[in-house]
Amino acid sequence: QALPYVRAISPYLPGKPITELAREMGIPVDKIVKLASNENPLGMSPKAKAALAKAVDSLERYPDDFDLKKALANHTGLGTERIVLGNGSNDVLDLVARVFLAPGRSAVFAQHAFAVYPLATLSTGAELIVVPAKDFGHDLDAMRAAIRPDTRIVWVANPNNPTGTFLPYPQLKAFLQAVPDDVIVVLDEAYNEYLPPAERVDTVAWLAEFPNLVITRSFSKIYGLAGLRIGYALASAEIADLMNRVRQPFNCNNLALAAAVAALDDHEFVAQSYVLNRNGMEMIIAGLKRLGLSHIPAHGNFVTFKVMDAAGVNQRLLKQGVIVRPIGGYGMPDWLRVTIGTEAENLRFLEALEKAL
Ligand code: PMP
Repeated sequence: QALPYVRAISPYLPGKPITELAREMGIPVDKIVKLASNENPLGMSPKAKAALAKAVDSLERYPDDFDLKKALANHTGLGTERIVLGNGSNDVLDLVARVFLAPGRSAVFAQHAFAVYPLATLSTGAELIVVPAKDFGHDLDAMRAAIRPDTRIVWVANPNNPTGTFLPYPQLKAFLQAVPDDVIVVLDEAYNEYLPPAERVDTVAWLAEFPNLVITRSFSKIYGLAGLRIGYALASAEIADLMNRVRQPFNCNNLALAAAVAALDDHEFVAQSYVLNRNGMEMIIAGLKRLGLSHIPAHGNFVTFKVMDAAGVNQRLLKQGVIVRPIGGYGMPDWLRVTIGTEAENLRFLEALEKAL
């Protein structure tokens, strides 16, 4: 007898794996362009790769996460007691849900926001309050108004996936000021490093003012470690302690921990990834405009654009060996999301899209 609220969860649909498409279409794996999961087209940092090779010699031992916590403490200026490591940032999102949600409680979520928030919420038996989007992004005023006495979490992604929308910092801060103290605001910053440095505000400093704020970040995006599964949360010492109580011991493996320490230190690789993303974004947006397609202003490492017959266009892209992400599951059946790739991948995508239209 499975729990009815577990049965009611819609399964997460990942981007199509390269090997699956290769099998289905009879296309060689190295001819496939996958721009479906917001991964780093440059791969991983060379420093991380070297660290991985070394860490192979430690695999008979259980993980020691001290070095990564220390490195993140240096990176953020927070004490290690305020950092929680996760098997991907999805894992820390789930930990927050497990600390604060249960049947009889609720969480507020924006329409078209990241799919793991409903998963994390509904798997606890809590109720999900869905607030209609504004211009495809979070409507913070409506989200605040939707908070009920039983609400314990509000999920906010900045930038959001799959829409790429971004909330200006003054708005976000006003929202934090307006939210009751006993409601946790989870600020998911998986794409934070893709924002222009001049536009970025140090949200970590806000933790001092808002003890109900939990910031989550990822090594899967600009750091290029999606396959290793490593992410982290920054919170008050009290919340971090609670999250650590429900965390599985050794949830992050030796390879991921070692690679993350090295990746965090590889400023050159991060800068290179940032520039590649900026240039690729310009190229793809110019290409979409040329094809007469509209897109949502983008702030991450992907662009979401509108097409007639998105399912058909997607099929015709797949036939040409190009994988993008249909987002019908996010309530946007007429839209496709494409991750910014290398110059050559972006070109392949735009050529294939022109043919597919
Ligand atoms: N938050 C957002 C908004 C995302 O788009 C993603 C990745 N798709 C994640 C969190 C989770 O990333 P990971 O678990 O790989 O760190």
